[in-house]
Amino acid sequence: MCVDEKFQTSKYLRIVPREGDVAVYHSLLGGLSLVDANITHLLNIFHTPQNALEAHTVVPYFSKEQVRSFIATFKSKGFLVYPSCNEYDVIQQKISQTKESLHKGSQIGVIQLVVTNNCNFKCSYCFINQIYASEKRYASQVSPLNRHMSTEMARIAIENVIKVLKESGKSSLWIQFFGGEPLLNWKTIKFVLEHFEKGDKYGIEINYSIVTNGSLFNHEIATYFLKYNVPIIISFDSPRGNDRHLLDGKNAFPSIKRNLTILNKNGNRIIFNTVLSKETFDFFDTALVDFALKNGVYEIGVLFDLDPIFYELKNTCDIVNKLWDMYIYGNLKGVVVTGYWHMIFQKMVAYDHFKYNSFKTCSATGCQLSIEPSGDVFACKASSGYFGHIWEVYNLLLSDTYKEYTMRAFRNAPECDGCEIENFCSGFCLGPLEKKYGTIQVIEKRTCDVYRELTRKLILNVEKNSIENYQMPPNTPYLNMMEDFCLLR
Ligand code: SF4
Ligand code: SF4
Repeated sequence: MCVDEKFQTSKYLRIVPREGDVAVYHSLLGGLSLVDANITHLLNIFHTPQNALEAHTVVPYFSKEQVRSFIATFKSKGFLVYPSCNEYDVIQQKISQTKESLHKGSQIGVIQLVVTNNCNFKCSYCFINQIYASEKRYASQVSPLNRHMSTEMARIAIENVIKVLKESGKSSLWIQFFGGEPLLNWKTIKFVLEHFEKGDKYGIEINYSIVTNGSLFNHEIATYFLKYNVPIIISFDSPRGNDRHLLDGKNAFPSIKRNLTILNKNGNRIIFNTVLSKETFDFFDTALVDFALKNGVYEIGVLFDLDPIFYELKNTCDIVNKLWDMYIYGNLKGVVVTGYWHMIFQKMVAYDHFKYNSFKTCSATGCQLSIEPSGDVFACKASSGYFGHIWEVYNLLLSDTYKEYTMRAFRNAPECDGCEIENFCSGFCLGPLEKKYGTIQVIEKRTCDVYRELTRKLILNVEKNSIENYQMPPNTPYLNMMEDFCLLR
């Protein structure tokens, strides 16, 4: 760094005062860090452009070396920029480059393989059919030709995607088995695992997961999933909620409980997928954490209701507090409680979204192909965004819908510009947006309040040693944090 070079704080620098320190991050690039009062003061100085020597004269208790090192660190995080730098343009340039190379498939990283559209449950609140918004989607969902994916279709679909990925220089792929209830088509799942294994013979690393209702396991399935490291994501809301029924009307709980025992004995990794919704609100509580622990489950993913009405029926505070209580209790008991809302925070900690990620929280906006049994490809099982057919994978990548959905990874909607979590949040799920507004370039304001409030809480409560933490030596004069905080704002 040249000693005369001047820097100033980025207009995207965000400050969150905490008890005893301050959290800082770049609202486009992340890099969430904690800084003490002295460093907050030093950051303040760069409100007006300064070089290292000028800054040193204002804060002589920092050595020149310390000031330089501070500048280098925060420049690399984007907190300090050259006064002439137009950050917006730099970022737009990166986005344009991504857009131009979309047809190569370099953004793809996930296949959601819908191996069947049949289900052995009849849940009153299943999202299927409730959020679909196009004729193509409805037709696909009810078509008798789109029930079970054949092993041949699975092979062609995955091989086509691998071909594209390898041509674009990518080295890994996630395959998520999805449905309906995917275990109703165990034949195809087993074929995929045996045929593609971990991807070695295709020269690509393949990881798997499955989203299931948890009712159809046996020893063979558990053994295969252990062998191929397949995390088992079981949709399960609460040991107190008993409104999930099998097609024959019987309560599904006993079969799920029995299968948890099988999976536990076998040593499988199990994750609960839980929905906080109008239907589950009253019994969504810490009993789930206790139940998870008893059954060898150490991760709970919490999703929010896909029906926008939920956010009118319940106020933001009640929704946030419900989830927060479970999150804190889970932390205490050693059960990770996470979800899209937590990924926002995780992305904020990770540095440079553009460099390392192809999506924010919703994989359907950026990196996912949801492949139906027929070979039709949508953005997600929860979306009506139709890309094309997997037999014509290169055409699919050229489709306007594919481009629109993928580029949403970089901007949800015009209303997001300037939001404090702008570049980490994917907004509301695509399906409900398509259904309610007929477009995905829009936000659902009440859900935004929930995401923002939860992110603030996570920032306020993050432990010092879990993210980057910058402090001056203990005997440096202690400065007035609040005064500095006010200046920074
Ligand atoms: S969807 Fe809402 S919360 Fe998310 S970035 Fe946009 S405005 Fe912010
Ligand atoms: S559209 Fe996005 S948010 Fe909705 S279910 Fe699919 S991946 Fe999740």
